[in-house]
Amino acid sequence: MINRLNLHLNFDFKKGALEGGAKLKLAGKAGTFLLNRGLKADSASAPFSWRLEGLRGFEAFEASVVRLENPLEEVELSYLGMLESYENVLPYLKDSISREYTLLRTDSLFYPIPSEPDFESLIKSVVGSEFNAEITVEGAPEGLVVASGGEIRGNRLKIEETNRLDIAIAPFTVIEEEPFRLFVLGGEGIERTLELLEKAYRFYSSILGRKADKFTVIETPENYGGQAGKGYALVSGSSLRAEIPANLYHELAHLWNPRATPEAHLSRFFDEAFANYLTALAIREIHGEEAFNRFIKGLKRDYETIVKRFPEAEKLRPSEWGRLGLWELSYTKGALILYELHQRAGDTFYDILRELVEEESVDFEKFRRIVKEIAGIEVTV
Ligand SMILES: [Zn+2]
Repeated sequence: MINRLNLHLNFDFKKGALEGGAKLKLAGKAGTFLLNRGLKADSASAPFSWRLEGLRGFEAFEASVVRLENPLEEVELSYLGMLESYENVLPYLKDSISREYTLLRTDSLFYPIPSEPDFESLIKSVVGSEFNAEITVEGAPEGLVVASGGEIRGNRLKIEETNRLDIAIAPFTVIEEEPFRLFVLGGEGIERTLELLEKAYRFYSSILGRKADKFTVIETPENYGGQAGKGYALVSGSSLRAEIPANLYHELAHLWNPRATPEAHLSRFFDEAFANYLTALAIREIHGEEAFNRFIKGLKRDYETIVKRFPEAEKLRPSEWGRLGLWELSYTKGALILYELHQRAGDTFYDILRELVEEESVDFEKFRRIVKEIAGIEVTV
C-alpha cells in the first residue's frame, strides 16, 4: 500500500500520450506494480521486467505489470505511452487524454499501484490505502483547466489522506464560493445547484456542527460513472443539474462521517449508511416530506431487490456485512436501520449522531452503547 506519492505527469495532448515519473513510499516492501495497459515502464530504481497481463479474476482487464527484481519500500518508476481507455471491459472507464475532456482516475491505473495482477488484490490495495500525494502537471494546453480534489496551486496538486486520485483537464469554468469549488463545463443551471449545495451544507452543519473542509465538484460528460474521494465528487452534467441532486448531498454528507475502526469500516455502515440517511434528511429539509418519503421508498425497493437475489441478507447484522463482503447493504438496509432508529429515538437521534461524529473512533459495540446511553434503546447491529 502507498503511504506517499510524488508524481510528475507530462502530457502530450496531440498524441494522447503521457510521460510519468512516480516516487512511491510504501507501507511495506512491494515488488509488483500495475499500470495502464497503454503505459510502458521506462526505468525504475531496481532492475525490472515488464509485460502486459490480464488480471486474475478479470482477464479481459489488461494491465502493464512491472516486476522489480527485489521488493523495495521506496520505489522510483518512470513510464510513458498512450493512456488507453478501459471502455471495452468497463463501459464507464472512458479515461483518456484529449482536448475535449481528459480524465485520469485511479481505476485506469495512470500511476503505479502496488498489487499482484489480480483483480481482488488490486481492489484491496486501493481501498485499504491512505496516502499523501503531490502531483505536478505539465503540457496542458492554454485554455484548459486542471481539476482535482485537494489543493491546487498553478500546476501543482496536493491531496492528503486519500485512497485514490482523480484528475480532470478540460475547458472548465471554475466557481468558488466557500466552502465550495465547482469545475463545470457550462454555466447553465449551476446557480440552482450551488444554492442547493449551500442549503445542504447549512443543514448538515446545523445538526452536526461546522466542518472546516472544502468540497469540490468536478463535472464529467455523461456515462463516466460517478466517483468520489475525500472532499470531492465527480458527477455528470445531468446529475449535477438534477431536480434533487441526491448524489451531491450524499457525497457532501461524507464530510460528517463518524470515524470507524478499520474492522468496522469493512461493512461501510459508518460511511455509506450514514451518508445515505443524511441525504434523506437533507432531502426532507430542502425538498419536503413527499420527496423524503419517495427517497426512503426507493431505498426499500432497492433493498427488496437484494433480498430477492440473496434472502439470507435479511438475517445478517451490519457488523457481519463487512466480513462477508456485503457492504453494499449499507446503502439500503443500513440507511433504513438509521431511519427506524430515528423514528424510535425522536429528536435524541441527533444527539446520537453528534456523539458518533465527535468520537475519536467508533465500532458497532460503541454504537450500541451510545444509542443505549442517549436514547435508552437496545439495537442489534
Ligand atoms: Zn458514499
